Amino acid sequence: MFKRILVANRGEIALRVIRACRELGVETVAIYSEADRGAQYLDLADEAYCVGPAKAADSYLKIDRVISAAEIGNVQAIHPGYGFLSENAHFNEVCRSCNIDFIGPGFEAMRRLGDKNEARKMARAANVPCVPGSDGLITDEKEAISVAREIGFPVLIKATAGGGGKGMRVAANDLSLKSAIQQAQAEALAAFGNAGIYLERYVELPRHIEVQIVADHHGNVVHLWERDCTMQRRHQKVIEESPAAHLEPQVRNAICEAAVRLIKSADYTNAGTVEFIVDRQNNFYFIEVNARIQVEHPVTEMVTGIDLIKTQLRIASGEPLPFKQSDIKQTGVALECRINAEDPARGFQPSPGLITRMMTPGGPGVRFDSHAYPGYTVSPHYDSMIGKLLVHRPTRDEAIQAMKQALGELRIEGIKTTASRQQDILSHAAFSAGTVDTKFIERTWPG
Ligand code: ADP
Repeated sequence: MFKRILVANRGEIALRVIRACRELGVETVAIYSEADRGAQYLDLADEAYCVGPAKAADSYLKIDRVISAAEIGNVQAIHPGYGFLSENAHFNEVCRSCNIDFIGPGFEAMRRLGDKNEARKMARAANVPCVPGSDGLITDEKEAISVAREIGFPVLIKATAGGGGKGMRVAANDLSLKSAIQQAQAEALAAFGNAGIYLERYVELPRHIEVQIVADHHGNVVHLWERDCTMQRRHQKVIEESPAAHLEPQVRNAICEAAVRLIKSADYTNAGTVEFIVDRQNNFYFIEVNARIQVEHPVTEMVTGIDLIKTQLRIASGEPLPFKQSDIKQTGVALECRINAEDPARGFQPSPGLITRMMTPGGPGVRFDSHAYPGYTVSPHYDSMIGKLLVHRPTRDEAIQAMKQALGELRIEGIKTTASRQQDILSHAAFSAGTVDTKFIERTWPG
């Protein structure tokens, strides 16, 4: 196991990684921007270095500064968390060329899977179903129209370098396709420096199901079952759960096996997630791989009893997986609500500022992963997520009940949070019945 690592992230995921390291006896070096100076979680690290001003582009995303902190801190490895540099294959490569292990997949696998069009090709080669769409990138309107007519409208235009829902556009006919292509290309170029786009059939009323994978350096690849992340707002996940409710066992098995096939064919190591959408007829289609730990990893930890961050550290330090596929069971049901500093009454506008009072729920099977505390100021510079509230119960009905109670106990004053909207969702009959799709929130609470 490593003696000392650098945590190249901030907030709740930095705290989560630091905690796992302390349990394993691994020393940690934290980094922070000027906006995060003095945050309490930094006290839990053995050392902490400032890497620049508040703006992420000048601090958390600045590769030379992060590497400098790693060298001054004399670490053996870097945990990138999620977001920021976590899926930057160039950063991954730079770490390794500086003799610092990157706690994640190799940079070649990361680069190939990070290109969504390339990932689709790999999925097809591994016999994993993909959404019907263009064979490769679309270069001109004529080609786009002929592909769209073949697969059938509506179609979805996606950026090959995409992420966070950026560069995605739905088109219902030839005319809207023409203008949507130009908009998507411009948006993709501005956001990712890559204008490459491709087409997929727009799957109506889908559910989002994803599979957690871990793979070691000894050829072992296993899945830790699925998470259902259908509850989304503008392609951002709002509530996640495991197992997925009302998913036929044979469909669940087929999706998990498909995910393992793709990961095996990609020469992938460490933790990763293979994302799918599932249509009304239970057909499933691969959409992308996230080559990092995900925000919603704790729902999998709760139902499997496996600590994913410790597993990542063990894999990166060269240990074989301590479990086999047949050891991994889903016990009970876990739910997660992402608590964001946003105002549901004002179109989910960010609500940064000082947290004046805060009371957090607890008790058996209740987990709150958060770096926030009374007196903490939520910065406007970063993602608005300030914590993740989780519950674990034997049945889904009990988990929903427990989550409603936990959300009711959660008091955060001084700023607005998304908790009230999550209460509404949990109380909705369609959520308990499982008759929801990825557009449920936007349709039910428009505006
Ligand atoms: P990003 O990487 O930008 O987050 P994804 O490919 O992961 O993009 O898709 C994000 C979300 O968009 C999915 O969870 C799903 O809700 C929706 N989505 C993606 N592809 C399709 C599709 N072909 N049809 C319908 N919805 C889709």
